[in-house]
Amino acid sequence: MTVTMISSKSVCSLLLLAFTLTGFACDHDKDAAQSAPPFAPPADTAAPPLNLPPDTGPPPELDGDRALQYVKDIVKFGPRPVGSTNHKKVEEYLASRLKGDVVEDDIFTADTPEGKFPVHNLIAKYPGTKDGIIVMASHYDTNYPLRDTSFVGANDGGSSSALLLEIANQLRGKAREGYSVWLVWDDAEEAIKPDTEIPFEKDSLYGISHLAQKWQADGTAKKIKAFLLADMVGDADLNIDRDANSTPWVENVVFEAATRLGYQSHFFARTVPMIDDHLPFMRIGVPSADLIDFSYGYNNVFWHTPQDTVDKLSAKSLEIVGSVVLETVRILDKMDPLPPR
Ligand SMILES: [Zn+2]
Repeated sequence: MTVTMISSKSVCSLLLLAFTLTGFACDHDKDAAQSAPPFAPPADTAAPPLNLPPDTGPPPELDGDRALQYVKDIVKFGPRPVGSTNHKKVEEYLASRLKGDVVEDDIFTADTPEGKFPVHNLIAKYPGTKDGIIVMASHYDTNYPLRDTSFVGANDGGSSSALLLEIANQLRGKAREGYSVWLVWDDAEEAIKPDTEIPFEKDSLYGISHLAQKWQADGTAKKIKAFLLADMVGDADLNIDRDANSTPWVENVVFEAATRLGYQSHFFARTVPMIDDHLPFMRIGVPSADLIDFSYGYNNVFWHTPQDTVDKLSAKSLEIVGSVVLETVRILDKMDPLPPR
């Protein structure tokens, strides 16, 4: 997760400013809110009514234990900031788990405030019978300014990258009666020098911005029906936020998927505006949703600290998010037509 390193107090003030617009409750208020009667996601009049298919068929399968094992595998390499040897090892690890799949590499050099870095996005492609693509993405680098600490980003970068590996296991070798699914492990997401005058968005999201521009130039972006981002999805105390910067109807499909699986109490109790990897795709008109739990420990205390370790995560949370993502895809496959862009 890439939000600039401002104090949690200022994050709260900033987000409270958005409260009037989005119904956001700051972390301080959140525990109280959780003991309140059943919530409903904020009404979203901007979203078109959904043309939902009937809720039929068995729920999607996903092995949360195996996904958690992948998180352990990834963090075992240690901190993996761009340009590091550990980063290279994680690139190789991801590729090794995707052996036999169609994997495309998007490699370039990023010019950052700390110099030039090699950036490597990996894209695994699982073809479907329908014309169109659904992209799922996760960044896998760890925070560069924390490179000399023990920060391993078990939740931030680790959880979602591991989850995509497990989703790959579920897609592999099966005929898809739906859109093609492309899994993206994007790189250099974290800000390199967040405490300078450089505008935050010019010093982060390097890998995903490159991919969005590339796919806009070659016409791929037009074929993408939805972009689903996962970030910080392994917290044992799982509360996925509704993101005010995502496409409302895609978020509504995610909530429908969660409801169909009985996991809705983990979704959308509050709304926050997220600066995350989905923004470059939102900007080029691709409907997107950011699935993020930005309350990692009380008042988000574990975020961007060496305390972001595997013991804070659970296999169940990974299973919940992974199966909701797969159910979202299954609903999107059958929504005919999808809302206009
Ligand atoms: Zn982060």
